[in-house]
Amino acid sequence: MSATKIIHSIPSDPLTGAISVPVYQTSTFIQEAPGVNKGFDYARSNNPTRKVLEDVVAKLEGGNGAFAFATGLAAIDAVLKLLTTGDEIIAVDDIYGGAYRLFTHVYEKLGINIKYVDTTDPENVANAVSSKTKLIWIESPTNPTLKVSNISAIATIAEEVNALLVVDNTFASPIAQQPLSLGADIVIHSGTKYIGGHSDLVAGLVVTKTASLSEKIKFVQNASGGVLGPWDCFLTIRGIETLDIRYRKQCQNAEKVAQFLVKHESVQDVYFPGLKTHKNHDIARRQQNGLFGGIVSFTLKEDTVEAANSFVTSTAFFKLAESLGGVKSLLCHPPQMTHASVPRERRLEAGIKDSLIRLSCGIEGAQDLIDDLASAFKQQPKEKKLLQVI
Ligand SMILES: *Cc1c(COP(=O)(O)O)cnc(C)c1O
Repeated sequence: MSATKIIHSIPSDPLTGAISVPVYQTSTFIQEAPGVNKGFDYARSNNPTRKVLEDVVAKLEGGNGAFAFATGLAAIDAVLKLLTTGDEIIAVDDIYGGAYRLFTHVYEKLGINIKYVDTTDPENVANAVSSKTKLIWIESPTNPTLKVSNISAIATIAEEVNALLVVDNTFASPIAQQPLSLGADIVIHSGTKYIGGHSDLVAGLVVTKTASLSEKIKFVQNASGGVLGPWDCFLTIRGIETLDIRYRKQCQNAEKVAQFLVKHESVQDVYFPGLKTHKNHDIARRQQNGLFGGIVSFTLKEDTVEAANSFVTSTAFFKLAESLGGVKSLLCHPPQMTHASVPRERRLEAGIKDSLIRLSCGIEGAQDLIDDLASAFKQQPKEKKLLQVI
């Protein structure tokens, strides 16, 4: 969807002509007679501000419907509620830490089986599925090692076993990638990240391909009630107005930062789908409209938590914080932050080394970001400085 279409898919208010979407801060709606209303009866079931957001996001992803939740994890949780005991999920091994926690500590207890596989090779998915598989769950690119999976190849496998393919599209955003058009059935977003874009809210979205899936998710949304409030819906809509220009600038910054890191003597490996050396660079180029995202991860030659700590506390523009996708650059150390809930052994299996650092490039000037990183590399761990003095 072009920037023009995105901006003009957001309606002005038909009642007053207000150019921006009104915040309907209300819990209930007056009915003319029992069951006779203007399409809204109670704010858990529906809200006019939320409806605008949901309609716009459905258009952004080319879906039948979209549903807004209080957080990305609430969105993921709503999809998992489509399952029953004995069902099986095949999930990407480098899955978002919070999703791993929800899968393992909530749904496994309820008798849902989860198999983690390296989905960057569709063969592994084909070998893992069974007649019990109900969901294939991928992120592409993944968090934090930026693995890319071939969505259409995996969609074919899902169809063969009658499973639904769910793609967490948080990192690519609808600007770079529209998984439904590649054969996925459900798309998830943490709206907290690129879609909101200003690090000022938490939100989640589920986008469905068919009317029957829309009905099922809508039922869970109303039955469980983890909806996004009207004010946060308004902020998310406002974020979407600038999504295209923000995302493209973040991609440009990330490409330049990745090129800088590749040449740096203190850096061991750089994870970025835009690099020709990336395992699935060609697939990323094809399925992501030539955009590689604003996230770059890397490891240090000195592969220790201490060395990573020293680096992440030495930057000025890159702020040390969880989350990503906002206009301000952030960095984090996944082993101690976003992925602390994943046991070290599993982290290492998924390629999350002790010194792995994740950068979320904002929309600042690229050279300022590079200068910031260059100066952080020159800082030495405090202990070492002390030793040198001694
Ligand atoms: C942040 C994130 C989530 C969870 O979203 P919240 O809004 O924090 O609940 C899910 N998936 C990915 C890829 C994320 O980065």
